[in-house]
Amino acid sequence: MRLRNVKGSREQIAANEYTIKDAEQIKGQWKDYFQDGKPIQLEIGMGKGKFLMRLAEKNPHIHYIGIEKYSSVLVRALEKMEETPLDNIHFIRMDAENIVNVFEKGEVDQIYLNFSDPWPKDRHAKRRLTSRQFLERYHNILKEEGRVIFKTDNRPLFDFSLEEVEEAGWTLEKCTFDLHHSEYLEGNIMTEYEEKFVAKGNPICMLQVFYKE
Ligand code: SAM
Repeated sequence: MRLRNVKGSREQIAANEYTIKDAEQIKGQWKDYFQDGKPIQLEIGMGKGKFLMRLAEKNPHIHYIGIEKYSSVLVRALEKMEETPLDNIHFIRMDAENIVNVFEKGEVDQIYLNFSDPWPKDRHAKRRLTSRQFLERYHNILKEEGRVIFKTDNRPLFDFSLEEVEEAGWTLEKCTFDLHHSEYLEGNIMTEYEEKFVAKGNPICMLQVFYKE
């Protein structure tokens, strides 16, 4: 994603009602924080948040939390929220590397990873959001058999991810190398990047996994 410094974005985020500040202090108390018993699902690396907003609109019985590393990107999502307010959508600006400092085991119902940065150099493999290091983090916050759902048009990243989920002992429940011509298309919600890549004719790969103790 092309990043530019958006002036005042940090301040805008700090003052916004949709962003959760001091999220680490809520660890282990998310149910009390929301007080409505709704499950919590995450999109890690949510970009401008279109996917999450579409999901949140469709599923008012679920809380969606978008995790995004950069203020300059997150601020775009906040601007969209001003246009279409939703009370089941929230954002945390953080590096997902620290996700276990924010959620306790079992607090997260499901995790979406959409068009994650590929980090093509081998020495950066552990930064990929589907690396075994990240899978371990997801295992430590998800409920029992909570799903991780990953979409990308990047075939080398997808192949790497398949190897990592197998190596880390996760169960592959769904897998397709061409989502838009597969049995899994029904109910699919497009992300911003997905719209771009589908328009170019790139096949979209998708996998869904869970960890069985
Ligand atoms: N998910 C969106 C979509 O499909 O349209 C955006 C995809 S964009 C290629 C990847 C996003 O993930 C960027 O906004 C980037 O800043 C964010 N990101 C990458 N690594 C991250 C990390 N470790 N923690 C949080 N966000 C991250």
